[in-house]
Amino acid sequence: MTLGARRIAGQHDRSFNEVRHATCCVIGCGPAGAMFGLMLAREGVDVLVLEKHADFLRDFRGDTLHPSTMQIMDELGLADGLLQLRHTKARKITARLPGRTLTVADLGRLKTRFPYITFMPQWDFLDYITAEAKRYPTFRLEMNAEAKELILEGGTVRGVRYETPEGPREARALLTVSADGRSSPFRGQAGLKMVRTSPPIDVLWFRLSRREGDPEDTFGYAGNGRFMAVINRSEYWQIAYLIRKGEYESVRARGLEAFRHAVGEAIPEFAGRTGELGNWDNVKLLTVQADRLRRWHGPGLLCIGDAAHAMSPVGGVGINLAIADAVAAANALAGPLGEGRVRSRDLVAVQLRRELPTRVIQALQSFAQRRVISTSLQQGGAPSLPGFVRFLLSLRPVRGIPARLIAFGVWPEHVKSRGPAMEAGLIQVAERSR
Ligand SMILES: Cc1cc2nc3c(=O)[nH]c(=O)nc-3n(C[C@H](O)[C@H](O)[C@H](O)COP(=O)(O)OP(=O)(O)OC[C@H]3O[C@@H](n4cnc5c(N)ncnc54)[C@H](O)[C@@H]3O)c2cc1C
Repeated sequence: MTLGARRIAGQHDRSFNEVRHATCCVIGCGPAGAMFGLMLAREGVDVLVLEKHADFLRDFRGDTLHPSTMQIMDELGLADGLLQLRHTKARKITARLPGRTLTVADLGRLKTRFPYITFMPQWDFLDYITAEAKRYPTFRLEMNAEAKELILEGGTVRGVRYETPEGPREARALLTVSADGRSSPFRGQAGLKMVRTSPPIDVLWFRLSRREGDPEDTFGYAGNGRFMAVINRSEYWQIAYLIRKGEYESVRARGLEAFRHAVGEAIPEFAGRTGELGNWDNVKLLTVQADRLRRWHGPGLLCIGDAAHAMSPVGGVGINLAIADAVAAANALAGPLGEGRVRSRDLVAVQLRRELPTRVIQALQSFAQRRVISTSLQQGGAPSLPGFVRFLLSLRPVRGIPARLIAFGVWPEHVKSRGPAMEAGLIQVAERSR
């Protein structure tokens, strides 16, 4: 049976529900998988996305959309709709240090339609992207579908076996894309090797209420051996409290009252509300992980987003890199997938395009973690930049680089095609619904 015929069988024969056929099967519907699925569907590629959860409701995930992502959304014609959803914006990133406030990056000066970081719950973002993708007849999303094992035939990945509440299924595809995040087991199953680093920090996440008279800005606090990122989420503050790696148990052993006191001492206006942290369930530990694959692909398989490179939360760039990977991958692969053949060089092209930006950002995160954050957490003082960095940042042409890197990464990705399949696809949908 040809791929096209099998695809039709999988789509239309409802009794044939153990095996799904698609041109591309995407494991995971986080930012990378959702965006990749949407972009393929716009190009008329038959794509099946598997998501293990029943919904996107996960708290304390990446919620930051940087200008690079907003530009991509604009190129897709989706930025204005996205900005109709509840969100907050940060034009400046400031750091409160003992006795002074420092502007780390001023995005307001950048030449872009979106000179700010947009904060939006990740579930709203994913709901929006997948609702848009569902307008295309070649997009299928299966929720409650947990991928378990790659289907390997003669060393080539032919799809994946997965579990659903109705029982086990198989998805067979020309290309399988692992976009299932930083703990993906499929890299190992395909024999892809990982370069691991050991970030010296972990993060405790919690919320405190916002009250009248609170500042509007999202800001960082650094001093007296403490580091916090304080994000304005309209009704509440979302706070990341950095600790040294492995220190979580001793923070807990010192007791919740000591933790509340530390937060209130750092940010006095919060002292009266730290009682909202009623127990340790209100404080979530994120074990910071940073790694990357040596090779992002194998025959029939490509890894993107955190599955290819887990990012440290420093700079809040994880979602944006994941989305940039998705755009680069869709730009490179929609054509070959549409023609029904993906060559190794098409997959190599994706890694070539995205590896350098990822490595540069990981190197900068590692520098910030070791030379600034970790030193300050250990020594207890205010953080200070090494002399040569202070000198570089005093030079006018260099001064704007942190803001540009946060906003656009090393280089931004752009949507190559405007979705020529869109009209055709939507007309088909309209005809079917008549
Ligand atoms: C606590 C925390 C805070 C963060 N803060 C920020 C931030 O402020 N800004 C930022 O940019 N980044 C942040 N990040 C990082 C950011 O969330 C990730 O870099 C980004 O979500 C990566 O996107 P992804 O699509 O590659 O993977 P993920 O977002 O991890 O998505 C993977 C998806 O795959 C699904 N999945 C996993 N396994 C399977 C399976 N076997 N079968 C089917 N589906 C599966 C998961 O349910 C999930 O939906 C944070 C991360 C954490 C953990």
